[in-house]
Amino acid sequence: MFRHATRVIATVIVLLPGATLAQPTSLRIQLDPLIDLYMSARAMAERPDEPPPVFAPAVAAARSVQDRLGRNTLGWGVIDGALDGSGQAETFRARVAEMPDPVRVFGGQSVSLRTQALAMAGAIQDAQPRFVEDLWPRRQAQLNTSLDAIIQRFGGREQACLSFMLDALGMPDPHVTIPVYLVTSAPWPGAMTFFNDDRQGVCFVATDAATDTRLLETILHEATHALEIADAGSMGVLAQLERRLIAAGIPENNRLVHDLPHTIMFVNAAETVRRTIDPRHIAYGEGDESGALYDRLPLARTAVIPAWIDYLDHTTTKEQMLDRIVAAAVSLHEKNSDPARVGVMDLLSGLARAELAGDGEALSGLFTTDALIMPPGGAPVISGRNAIHTHYTDLFEAAGLTGVRIIPDEIDISGDQAVVVGRTRTEVTPAGAVGPDIHLDRFLLVAQRDADGTWRVHRLMWTPLESSR
Ligand SMILES: [Zn+2]
Repeated sequence: MFRHATRVIATVIVLLPGATLAQPTSLRIQLDPLIDLYMSARAMAERPDEPPPVFAPAVAAARSVQDRLGRNTLGWGVIDGALDGSGQAETFRARVAEMPDPVRVFGGQSVSLRTQALAMAGAIQDAQPRFVEDLWPRRQAQLNTSLDAIIQRFGGREQACLSFMLDALGMPDPHVTIPVYLVTSAPWPGAMTFFNDDRQGVCFVATDAATDTRLLETILHEATHALEIADAGSMGVLAQLERRLIAAGIPENNRLVHDLPHTIMFVNAAETVRRTIDPRHIAYGEGDESGALYDRLPLARTAVIPAWIDYLDHTTTKEQMLDRIVAAAVSLHEKNSDPARVGVMDLLSGLARAELAGDGEALSGLFTTDALIMPPGGAPVISGRNAIHTHYTDLFEAAGLTGVRIIPDEIDISGDQAVVVGRTRTEVTPAGAVGPDIHLDRFLLVAQRDADGTWRVHRLMWTPLESSR
């Protein structure tokens, strides 16, 4: 019933400004207490600490939704998308009640979510009156301050940004208004775009996701997702690249097919800000002390960024740009398909997993029996698997690792030996500490393929890049 009523109202709203069909695509950046409450509960559900009482039931419900979705965080889109235009928690709940069950979530799986999603919507509805009375006035004031800053930073050039992006992405203007909800906090990575009930993109951006021009870039990045959704005929460069990668033999489910167009979205949004708003803008992908996204996106620095910038500068054509990215992708895909390389990559992810689990047994099993570890700073060499086992077991007892990332920069394989040069980022939380210590190291690792065909660490040394709290 509710759903029907909303639909009709929504249709009227869409139909009334029929004349605006000729209007260029624009952003509608707005605040909404229901969405702010909901996204805060989603963000809190990701953290281990106890939520404030007003959020507690919604956070518990969000965690049970996440349990149903497993690791598929984008699966939330089917619920989150229904927020756009709901206004009242009651309407949102009614929309959730009409969701099919099981529902097809992002990634294609079918998941039965209704019970958990309804519990979430119900908890949000229960929390709304107190949230609006106690918390919203201050949050609204803060969000309005952010909104003013965003408007000022755009300086009236948001339209110019959108047309620059559409032009670069080779998309015809879809003549849509893209809703962008500014919220106090949101689940990782702080910004996302989902389908609303009208199959249009709706963006959510947390004001703590980035600052200054980086927040503008984040908004434009999310808007690009909405533009891609609106690119019904798949005319644009992003869709072309995806088709060309698949035609070049890269399987559709390979992460390159998703990551390369997505990297373009990042680079293009950053360049849009740099060329339209502020030439001093530093891309979001360049990261901060905790690491750079561009380092983790395959081929970002070696192919996508240079190819896209040349294309924007008109020093190469669109076809040349696409050729360059596809060629780099094919060569990386061939390299990645090499069984020896897969073995070495498996070793690196096994190391990270065992370290994170604090499992000294599993970790030492990834070293050869006569392995050597040469720690920095004149510490004694650790020699042999047994000593390595003791070393790590003691270490894990002293402090838990709360985050481990191993980034290989170079892998050279020759026969049964491989030399890996890379960087690690480790978060160590000593017992009783408030927050983690973050260690950034550069390492040199010699791996060896043992007689059982398994790649193991044979020699390992590292040197700290920096250590920061
Ligand atoms: Zn994105």
